[in-house]
Amino acid sequence: KRLVSGLTKTRDNIVSGFDSIFSGFSHIDDDFYEELEEILVMGDIGIHATEEIIENLKKKVKENHIKEPADCRELLINSIKEQMYVGDTAYRFEEETSVVLVIGVNGVGKTTTIGKLAGKLKSQGKKVILGAADTFRAAAGEQLTEWANRAGVEIVGGQEGSDPGSVVYDAVQAAKARKADVLLCDTAGRLHNKKNLMEELKKINRILEKEYPEAYRETLVVLDATTGQNALVQAKQFSEAAEITGIVLTKMDGTAKGGIAVAIHSELGIPVKYIGVGESIDDLQKFDADQFVDALFE
Ligand code: GDP
Repeated sequence: KRLVSGLTKTRDNIVSGFDSIFSGFSHIDDDFYEELEEILVMGDIGIHATEEIIENLKKKVKENHIKEPADCRELLINSIKEQMYVGDTAYRFEEETSVVLVIGVNGVGKTTTIGKLAGKLKSQGKKVILGAADTFRAAAGEQLTEWANRAGVEIVGGQEGSDPGSVVYDAVQAAKARKADVLLCDTAGRLHNKKNLMEELKKINRILEKEYPEAYRETLVVLDATTGQNALVQAKQFSEAAEITGIVLTKMDGTAKGGIAVAIHSELGIPVKYIGVGESIDDLQKFDADQFVDALFE
């Protein structure tokens, strides 16, 4: 229910357009496909993914001998789902001892996401420790401490300007000493200096390999869905700097550009694992591509 309410704007944007062409065209022709294409692109699904979805749809229409535009609806839904398929989308860090590194540029909602995720894991009965290793930003540590308090979890580090590697080191020692299930680390977000970013992440990963080899490692990138195609650009840049295992798309409640989830799956092959649908601690949902597409067409 909440998934659907959090996606209202995206749904209104994309699906109201679909419905008008499914009923507005008397037969399937080039104009029909062109309008469909326009709606998909406007919904921030991206040109590349859109073209493949339309090609796939055309093939299905032919194979199934479809004549009526209205009968395309189901085939379109399936084409979008197929475009979003990325294979493994497991949440292993919820099952075993793990470290989750969270990356993202200023303002995307990284701190909020870490707080929500900490709250979620805590409510599943897990012992969670936060590592405040994004030491570059002023006040980042304070904000994260507030979230740690809200979620009721322990936090390590947070001194502005301290070495991120040493914060991670300390956080790992704390996680081992307290037998934490999940160590959630706030990490770098300076995309404008990719070399530094790569070095910083490499260093953190080296520390984790050495100090905490038993922990499963997940690397999540937080992106602001309201920025549409810019979010995709950021995701690409981060994926060049590190091995990303999942995406969190924030502010899905405030945007009609939720189609960006399709573009990310299609172009990067990295699953969106969570979406943010509000500012409070409960406003983080697991993302399921099939459910997402169904919700859009509901
Ligand atoms: P950071 O700089 O990346 O750490 O960003 P913050 O976590 O401080 O978030 C920036 C702003 O976005 C804050 O006002 C948050 O309340 C807001 N925000 C974060 N996630 C969401 C979301 O899913 N929905 C909405 N509506 N606002 C969000």
